[in-house]
Amino acid sequence: MLAPIIIAIDGYSSCGKSTLAKQLAKELQFKYIDTGAMYRALTLYLLQNQIDIHHPAMVAAALTQIGISFGLDTQTQEQFTLLNGENVEHEIRVNPRVASAVSIVSAQTEIRKFLVKQQQAFGISKGIVMDGRDIGTVVFPQAELKLFITAEPNIRAQRRLIELKEMEQNTTFEEVLANLQKRDLMDTTRADSPLLKATDAIEIDNSNLSREDQLTKVLNLVKSLNKPAQ
Ligand code: C5P
Repeated sequence: MLAPIIIAIDGYSSCGKSTLAKQLAKELQFKYIDTGAMYRALTLYLLQNQIDIHHPAMVAAALTQIGISFGLDTQTQEQFTLLNGENVEHEIRVNPRVASAVSIVSAQTEIRKFLVKQQQAFGISKGIVMDGRDIGTVVFPQAELKLFITAEPNIRAQRRLIELKEMEQNTTFEEVLANLQKRDLMDTTRADSPLLKATDAIEIDNSNLSREDQLTKVLNLVKSLNKPAQ
């Protein structure tokens, strides 16, 4: 039986972090938390309520009105994101306004404090896989396994384009690439909790790795952690 540990997965936009995190959570029977979904849901609330996202004081004042949680579809076993009790999973993935605004919102310190506190509470009893941008550096610096996932930008944009087309979104490769490069730049250069590889994180470039091979590689890492010390 695997001891409950914390697995922190960070990396650039659309590099397959969530796919890997979900696969791992399923294999290990751990909880899975997609922190990007939390930032996206919060951004959706601000947009829906016409709160000026460039005005940190107004954004901070809205936080008491925002409740983010996760639900589970018992048929598909897929997790979905709830904003004040409403399922916003589809909306936060496909709404281009959310994709453009989220990195502006997530750079604000009050927002980060608000969500990081909730994320840390999710991990209190361990047995969790969490993915995002600051999980190994800020949310769980003590995580037993930290992964930093990368892939070439063109490959990431192509994968994201396929996902969006599957959700019947009419967009182009160029638009998708521009959005993810813009978000990467903002996420890596912001003052508070920028995206960076924790010194003890293991880097995986999955540009040429299948999902299955990546999962096998990571499961081997998990197994090696659980080997008793010689
Ligand atoms: O992971 P996803 O692409 O859905 O994340 C959307 C955005 O949320 C990121 O581009 C980033 O600005 C923000 N984010 C963050 N910290 C996290 C997770 C996401 O700042 N831990």
